[in-house]
Amino acid sequence: MSDTNSFQSDNLQRFIFDNAPIRGEWVHLQDSWQQILIRREYPVAIQKILGEMMAAAALLAATVKIEGRLVLQIKSTGPVTLMMVECTSDDTLRAFAQWDGELADDATLAEVAGEGSLAITIEVEGAKQPYQGVVSLEGDSIANALETYFQQSEQLTTKIWLASNDNAAAGLFLQQLPSGDQTKEEGEEHWSRMSQLAATVTSNELLELGAGTLLHRLFHEEECRLLTTTELSFACSCSRERVAETITLLGEQDALDLLEEKECIEVACEFCNEHYRFDTIDVKRIFSEAISTEEASSTLH
Ligand SMILES: [Zn+2]
Repeated sequence: MSDTNSFQSDNLQRFIFDNAPIRGEWVHLQDSWQQILIRREYPVAIQKILGEMMAAAALLAATVKIEGRLVLQIKSTGPVTLMMVECTSDDTLRAFAQWDGELADDATLAEVAGEGSLAITIEVEGAKQPYQGVVSLEGDSIANALETYFQQSEQLTTKIWLASNDNAAAGLFLQQLPSGDQTKEEGEEHWSRMSQLAATVTSNELLELGAGTLLHRLFHEEECRLLTTTELSFACSCSRERVAETITLLGEQDALDLLEEKECIEVACEFCNEHYRFDTIDVKRIFSEAISTEEASSTLH
């Protein structure tokens, strides 16, 4: 019972209910998730959480209409030292985790992240300061932590279901909106009914069913209306030029000193595991180009 092949994955589907002030989102990631998994081999327990965070980042990014990026980051006191997922307004995703030591396959979030916290950062292009909200990982799941975040920081009652396996990462999101012309009691009744219906969703259904099939299965007696879909893909914004810029910050002498010890300066991108190598000739070129750009810009001003 799988229609994995009969629906378009790497998509986010928004939906609303004609009869209830609630908005929803469904996301299913397959190719973009595979792009993360081929770049680094993760312990099972970390992979599961990372997949859930990736689906969550897509769901959250779809709720903020900004040009920029949304980052979910686990700050941990446990074996995982860093977990980070980014979703941009260009609908691209990337993710990685770092960890120390061995982890049981069935290690819980608490065993992986200790007394960690989950930071939600929203960077708007051109804004001086990013927005950041932090919520503790006291709950037993990423979904619980995010529900708490929405309640605490946004005063929005929200339910989130997340799942991931070797093949896909997926999620479902429901959020209560202001009641509008309905009474508060009516709004609460609708919320209670819809969130109970949605709560019957299983991880297998999230991972294996398309939006149409899943939403019909959950809400077939409700007036659920599908809105826009967004296609998502993996992309990393790292480049040789950006790494070269970082090397110029070292200063030419320090960069050349590094090359005394090693044949080349090697920088790996944490997100996509691309390795950038710069030998002495490359480094000298970077600095001569940096100087000529400086001269060009100083004549311009
Ligand atoms: Zn990269």
